[in-house]
Amino acid sequence: MSDSHHATAGSNPALPGWLLEQAINNLSLGFIIFNAKREVVFCNARYMEIYRLSPEQVKPGTPITQLIQHRLNLGLKIHSAPDEYIRAHRENAIVPVTTIQRFSDGQIITYTVYPMPDGGGMATHEDITSREEMSARLKQHYELGKLQEEKLQARNFQFDTAINNMSQGLCFFDAGHRLIVCNDRYVEMYDLPPDRVGPGTPLTEIVDLRFEAGSFPAMSRDEYLHWRSNVAISAEPTDSIIELGNGRTFKIRHRPMPDLGWVATHEDITEQRQAEIKIEHMAHHDALTDLANRVLLNGRLESALARFQSGEMLAVHHLDLDQFKAVNDTFGHPVGDRLLKVVADRLRGLVRETDTIARTGGDEFVIVQAPVADPTDATSLAESIIELLSQPYDLDGHQAVIGASIGIAVSPGDGSSADTLLRNADLALYRAKGDGRGTFRFFKPAMDEQMQTRRVMEQDLRKALSAGEFELYYQPVVSLESNKISGFEALIRWNHPEKGLVAPAAFIPLAEEIGFIVPLGEWVIRQACITAAQWPDHLQVAVNISAAQFRGSGLMQVIINALATSGLHPTRLEIEITETVLLQDKEATLAVLHRLRALGIRIAMDDFGTGYSSLTYLQCFPFDKIKIDRSFVKDVADNAGSLNIVRAVAALANGMGMAATAEGVETKEQLDRITAEGCTEMQGYLFSRPLPVHEIERLYLSEGAVRKAPGKTAAA
Ligand code: C2E
Ligand code: CA
Ligand code: CA
Repeated sequence: MSDSHHATAGSNPALPGWLLEQAINNLSLGFIIFNAKREVVFCNARYMEIYRLSPEQVKPGTPITQLIQHRLNLGLKIHSAPDEYIRAHRENAIVPVTTIQRFSDGQIITYTVYPMPDGGGMATHEDITSREEMSARLKQHYELGKLQEEKLQARNFQFDTAINNMSQGLCFFDAGHRLIVCNDRYVEMYDLPPDRVGPGTPLTEIVDLRFEAGSFPAMSRDEYLHWRSNVAISAEPTDSIIELGNGRTFKIRHRPMPDLGWVATHEDITEQRQAEIKIEHMAHHDALTDLANRVLLNGRLESALARFQSGEMLAVHHLDLDQFKAVNDTFGHPVGDRLLKVVADRLRGLVRETDTIARTGGDEFVIVQAPVADPTDATSLAESIIELLSQPYDLDGHQAVIGASIGIAVSPGDGSSADTLLRNADLALYRAKGDGRGTFRFFKPAMDEQMQTRRVMEQDLRKALSAGEFELYYQPVVSLESNKISGFEALIRWNHPEKGLVAPAAFIPLAEEIGFIVPLGEWVIRQACITAAQWPDHLQVAVNISAAQFRGSGLMQVIINALATSGLHPTRLEIEITETVLLQDKEATLAVLHRLRALGIRIAMDDFGTGYSSLTYLQCFPFDKIKIDRSFVKDVADNAGSLNIVRAVAALANGMGMAATAEGVETKEQLDRITAEGCTEMQGYLFSRPLPVHEIERLYLSEGAVRKAPGKTAAA
């Protein structure tokens, strides 16, 4: 031991000196002995270590004051002046005195001086820096802990209140599947007897109680217990939704705890669930008929297509009701709605489980027939649909008859995607309607081409108006009484840049369908008024007005403006409408007609006899003129039926004070017949074809123009 030479004193002779020295040197305390002269007698290694002293600095005989000075050098913090401090601390006390020394580097050393009878003394020094730190920290912890405990207590109280007022059931179970605690709501939700559920109740018992109470899903007790225990053992957070026998739906959130117990919340989501189911249903079904809507249709069609990728066939039927609008307009919307429901029911009776019926628009339906063995399956379904839907309907006392048109596309031949099939079925439907309704058509690629042609024509039409490609021709109307021209009917022509002169039959239906008839019709009215204003005052001009022009509210204003700008007197303008105009919103249309008539404008019923209920329409408005359709005039000479119709209509017109005009008179014979039967006017190739305005003016309106009598064919 290197410090052995310091061990110069040994008070216990029984102990070998080195052993004592070793014992002292191994003390965790610093140890120093000094004599009455205040000089070092002995110090141990720990003492030197504590004060970072070399053996030389503490060799026997070193004055204590030097050691105190050394401590000051180390940064001992003192309150008095150093000299005074040193003097005070070299004094010997009579009783042991303990001093705590704090150094500027944070070190804390405490020492106790024990006076000895010979006037010397002994001191123990201990570095308590870490102990002090520890206790300071402990104190801090303690205080913090105290605070936390207080908080916890408050929180426990809040927690209790909170869990018992929660809208959710809450329960804690321990690792042994025994209840630690649950709230009132839990007991209530499962109709449990409160006195039998408490801390320590096993899960199995609670399950039994629930079984008795009926707050149990549709499975056996053992099945449930098996499932529930699995959830508990899996130690995974699990959310499950269970439907109870009593009709309630609960959402259980199971959360494992580190000690293998778990906490679970139970939420009654019955209402939410019902609302969800309802919303889900609403999102996929048509509210009126409860049939699938477009969204569900697409989904079903797509999954059917995916199933039949192997090449199995399915058919898409696009169905449109004929005359639905008339029912709606005649009896009102509630009856129309009723009709749609009955149609839906009838359709339901015709299809199989695997088929889907959707309502895709007002009176449009799509049926996905899947699978089909071959296209004849589709044929028979379509035939049954048309046949069944054409049966009369009794709608709360109202009798109605409608029809149905169907377009069919068959996969894979007519397309293998939902979009293509629906589009092609739609094209086929368009054809079925064009072919007279009440029938079905299978898709053919040519329909697609025709649709393209139509689209091209649509674009051409829209450009034609601003390009000035339209022109009005005029056909004279001759009074049979005076043998003089009473006026002209304006008939539109399209001078197409490539196709040449296009007759109205080729573009008016399309213009009506796409709504282009509105601006086009406006142009016709203005043009006819401007032209006629140049003619002698006794000549009238007749303009054809489509049903679509009555649909908006603008017609009245257009006519008033045309009259005002041209200066044409209203009594010189005649508008020709067909009964289809009265098929739509009859009241509104009649109101417009009355206002026009109040201005002095004449109203003619065109194409009379071609519709199906013309007589009732004649009654509802005091028309100025009836124009008997060319189809009757054509064979008036050799068909008794036609002759009778001409006779009846002329008599009716005369009786009601209306003019009766025969259209399409081509022969002298026809002229004689219609004159004999009481028609008052004629129009037709026999007198003149429709002609451009300059021809009309040259032939019939100029000075010296030959006013040819009917019967002498015009050179047109
Ligand atoms: P509509 O109003 O019945 O016009 C009479 C049609 O019969 C005209 O055909 C006329 O050229 C034709 N026609 C006249 N006399 C004879 C004849 O003796 N024999 C034969 N075979 N035909 C005769 P167009 O000009 O081709 O017009 C066809 C239809 O187009 C018109 O039938 C009318 O419904 C519609 N239309 C014509 N111009 C307009 C228009 O400006 N606006 C509207 N909305 N429709 C128009
Ligand atoms: Ca006409
Ligand atoms: Ca006509």
